[in-house]
Amino acid sequence: MKIAVLGAGPAGLYFSYLMKRTWPSYTVRVIEQNPKDATFGFGVVLSGRALGFIAEGDPAAIERLTASMQIWSVQHIEHRGERVVIDGSTFSGIRRLALLQEFQALCLEAGVELEFDRRVQDDAELAANDVVVAADGASSMIRDRHADAFGTVATDLLNHFAWYGVEKPYDAHTLTFKSTSHGVYCAHHYRYTPSMSTFVAETDARTWDASGMEAMDEEARRRHTEVIFADTLGGRPLISNKSAWKRWRLVKNERWHHGNIVLIGDALRTAHPSIGSGTRLAMEDSIALWRAFSAESDITAVFDRYERERKPVRDRLNTAAEKSIAWYEAMAQKMKLAPYDFVHDYMLRTGVMTSERLARESPDFMKRYAAKRGDAS
Ligand SMILES: Cc1cc2nc3c(=O)[nH]c(=O)nc-3n(C[C@H](O)[C@H](O)[C@H](O)COP(=O)(O)OP(=O)(O)OC[C@H]3O[C@@H](n4cnc5c(N)ncnc54)[C@H](O)[C@@H]3O)c2cc1C
Repeated sequence: MKIAVLGAGPAGLYFSYLMKRTWPSYTVRVIEQNPKDATFGFGVVLSGRALGFIAEGDPAAIERLTASMQIWSVQHIEHRGERVVIDGSTFSGIRRLALLQEFQALCLEAGVELEFDRRVQDDAELAANDVVVAADGASSMIRDRHADAFGTVATDLLNHFAWYGVEKPYDAHTLTFKSTSHGVYCAHHYRYTPSMSTFVAETDARTWDASGMEAMDEEARRRHTEVIFADTLGGRPLISNKSAWKRWRLVKNERWHHGNIVLIGDALRTAHPSIGSGTRLAMEDSIALWRAFSAESDITAVFDRYERERKPVRDRLNTAAEKSIAWYEAMAQKMKLAPYDFVHDYMLRTGVMTSERLARESPDFMKRYAAKRGDAS
């Protein structure tokens, strides 16, 4: 069996590792356009639950990753200058490059062939393979070339965001909301090394227009964001790594495979970061496809099983994501709420979490929330 995997992101690397480790006689080759140690962005965050899910592929591999992780057990939400602490969930942050390098090492140990610095222009280049796994990310070339066959639908969301870094270690996974004379902003920040944090800034469409950000170049937008979040940043500069403000593009596909090509990770469906990490979903897709190979021998049956078993999970997350996206697009209205009401509303935004479940999982937060409501009445 010859398998070509396009893209050395988390989806492509984890899938390749699992396949080669299970079937050493297969040829598994990953082709990546970037150099070995290049990556966009800074660090990624994974919840404790997410780590549990992806460990189902190979617990030992995930244990190796945790050695490079920053771990914390509370979430902070800051609104009107007040910090609300939400107990009860564990998160881990890791440098994206460290994650990819650990997966590259696992792949090489298992015997996967890794080819860097090659951009595949046309899937005809991969025709000699029995299976082609499109793990080539949100702007997947293969998916776009066969958009009709896959039934690809892309939607641009209204809010704008940019992904920066900052040399400042935050105590916890934090969301900071800011209200200014021209509108509202949100930052999602968390440390991924003892000294560095990721800082994702977001604003709504109305603020984007009113603040003049549309007309600014990227350097002016970076400085504008530094001013908005000056106290959160503690005077530190925002670091750009080709950071650009854009609107989030949601991509989904009616059909997950076509001929000998199958989609995984962001190529299959982009996940909104407010609902769970795209890295986690990408790796779960890898596990689901690898499991389907374990259960079936015919390629079409493998692909059908993968889609049948994984799609309901992805669809459920998508429904939650749509509600979360609507919440962020309406954040200006939501920010009229007092801090504890605001946070309670945020925690329940997808409908997956209920007040009862929150009371079980975050009892300290719910006690303080109840006390605040008592104070108000
Ligand atoms: C602002 C922002 C914040 C995010 N925050 C988080 C976060 O906190 N936590 C988290 O888990 N995720 C986060 N994500 C999402 C995360 O980065 C992706 O969901 C995840 O990387 C998807 O993995 P993937 O392997 O499917 O695709 P990718 O990681 O995108 O990998 C695809 C690979 O394919 C390669 N490629 C593409 N086309 C070709 C070609 N033609 N030839 C050869 N190679 C090709 C690319 O170079 C790339 O290396 C964020 C994303 C953004 C934009």
